[in-house]
Amino acid sequence: MDEPALQAVRARLADARKVCVLTGAGMSAESGIPTFRDALTGLWSRFDPMQLASEEGFRADPRLVWDWYAERRLGVRAAQPNAGHMALATFAARHPTRLTLVTQNVDDLHQRAGIVETIRLHGDILQDCWLNACPRGRHCEPGAAAPAQPPRCSECGNLVRPGVVWFGEMLPPAALDAAQHAARESEVMLVIGTSGAVWPAAGLAQLARRAGAYVVIVNPEPSEIDAQAHAVLRGSAATLVPALLDGL
Ligand code: NAD
Repeated sequence: MDEPALQAVRARLADARKVCVLTGAGMSAESGIPTFRDALTGLWSRFDPMQLASEEGFRADPRLVWDWYAERRLGVRAAQPNAGHMALATFAARHPTRLTLVTQNVDDLHQRAGIVETIRLHGDILQDCWLNACPRGRHCEPGAAAPAQPPRCSECGNLVRPGVVWFGEMLPPAALDAAQHAARESEVMLVIGTSGAVWPAAGLAQLARRAGAYVVIVNPEPSEIDAQAHAVLRGSAATLVPALLDGL
């Protein structure tokens, strides 16, 4: 660990009136939830991400996509927040107006660690929603569940899908607005465990930097947005986040 760099970032965090944190899949890796790339191993390695995480893929083979999400849902339910999630939650509780947490993660580990107000850019894997607006203009009703099949509306056949943002879909506009606002007004922007490959979330670091924030990246590997950062700390979220925040 680069101790002087760590202490320099701690000093920035201690002084900052507004801190925006952006987390990605690496935040939950040590809780046992695979990152996107890692989730495409084993049985799933022969599938293209577009098949498993797009509306077209779901329409083409609902059962395949539902199965993949069912397995990921089990993993999320079994996982526990790690020391990084806990350190962020403790800091947020101690300084209620200073930290805004923006996450690309579809798991609920920040919430279970105790951060209630999380801006969720990519939805919630544990939530169900309907694929289509009800063609009858009414509420759909899930019928009896068939094993390993997405539930269907008993009246119109509409399918249930997971409540995540798929490739090619818009981010929830209110969440994106709130995230951009938090990035712009932050004095320190802390980017944890993201490859920086998924837009528009990846643009938040640059937005913060242009607005005058000190940008810090925490990641064991190089990311596509390292050039936007004033400081890059190489290491894992469960080790570095407590090292940065504990006692502040
Ligand atoms: P990504 O899979 O593209 O990148 C993960 C990043 O985490 C990599 O840069 C990797 O080096 C880093 N990393 C790995 N282990 C780490 C650790 N212990 N500590 C810190 N960093 C670590 O993930 P992404 O950038 O979040 O983008 C992919 C999209 O897939 C996300 O937007 C999200 O919607 C979705 N996703 C979410 C989850 C989840 O909710 N936990 C899991 C998989 C995918």
